[in-house]
Amino acid sequence: MHVCVIGGGIAGSLLAWRLIQQPGIQVDVFAGTHRDLDATEASGGGVRGYESDPEQRALALTSLMELLDSRVLRDWADYHRTGSAYLQWPNQAVAAAVSEVDSALNGSAELKPAFKLGWHGTPQGAVAIVERLAGYISPASLRRHVLTEVARRATVREGNLTHPHKGYDKVVLATGAWTPELLRRNGYSDDGYQTKAIQYTIYRTGRWLPPVFVDEISGLYGRPSARGLLLGLPTQDWDVAPAHGIPAEGLEEKAAKLAAARFPELRLGPVVARRMGVDCYTSQPGLRLRPVDNRLYTFTGGSGGSVKTALAASQIAARALTSSR
Ligand SMILES: Cc1cc2nc3c(=O)[nH]c(=O)nc-3n(C[C@H](O)[C@H](O)[C@H](O)COP(=O)(O)OP(=O)(O)OC[C@H]3O[C@@H](n4cnc5c(N)ncnc54)[C@H](O)[C@@H]3O)c2cc1C
Repeated sequence: MHVCVIGGGIAGSLLAWRLIQQPGIQVDVFAGTHRDLDATEASGGGVRGYESDPEQRALALTSLMELLDSRVLRDWADYHRTGSAYLQWPNQAVAAAVSEVDSALNGSAELKPAFKLGWHGTPQGAVAIVERLAGYISPASLRRHVLTEVARRATVREGNLTHPHKGYDKVVLATGAWTPELLRRNGYSDDGYQTKAIQYTIYRTGRWLPPVFVDEISGLYGRPSARGLLLGLPTQDWDVAPAHGIPAEGLEEKAAKLAAARFPELRLGPVVARRMGVDCYTSQPGLRLRPVDNRLYTFTGGSGGSVKTALAASQIAARALTSSR
């Protein structure tokens, strides 16, 4: 079986890597010319086991377990363990979800009342999912190593392929934010696929840093980095052309204010860097293989969070592609 993977972000590179490990599969990869501007390059790389959606949680957990079990993957991905805290309103499913994460990752997760985090102004009744083994990776480093490995056993071309030709048994568009446009350009509907801009700012800080965190109540997210603290708030910039996001006005200042109010020990210094990226969002969020016709598929839909799930999602996608031989 001859498979063509279009796109060399984290989705395409991991899918190609899974495919070359299967017997009897010939793989060609078109890695694309926009790798320095793609979501994988811009990504914050936060990884944890907890997700509120059960399917995404299963993928995030399996991915984190594979990462933690493999020294090679941890090195390729430059994994940093920082722990994480996820602040949200309680719901009926949260306790069961946390014990699922905790038992899969040997005591990594616990559910706490939010006030026990020691943050300021957490609303009464809010809860925090705290994970010991969560942290962040460099998705760009992971895809670089994976593509090098893939190139040993498959053809990896640096260029773009805009019209998937008929010489392949299966063609996969792992083209992130470029996917809606590619579908349209090839005469297919892009219904259910949208793009959205994501932005964050890295600040120099004093000594105190929070772990990787998501504050679902205010929208603020962040993580420590070698250069200080990364902070962001979700934009509402939909249908942005890939690699062409423009910083949303006032969002950076709002995020800095929220962080200063939440973390009494945080001392925010000057801005060290600003990053923008555009990701592909799908009506049912999540990175998965979606058939377009009987030969063409998409493997995208990260919806702002697929670094967490990409290891497991790529394994499932590779099996689904090859089982249809
Ligand atoms: C700023 C930002 C922060 C994020 N933070 C996190 C986080 O902390 N945790 C988390 O889990 N997720 C995070 N995400 C989400 C995650 O990074 C993305 O979901 C993921 O990187 C998407 O990978 P991808 O391979 O689908 O797309 P991309 O990385 O965009 O890759 C698509 C590739 O397709 C190539 N391509 C396009 N057209 C063609 C063509 N015609 N031929 C060949 N190649 C083509 C492009 O060159 C590109 O390299 C973040 C995303 C952004 C933007």
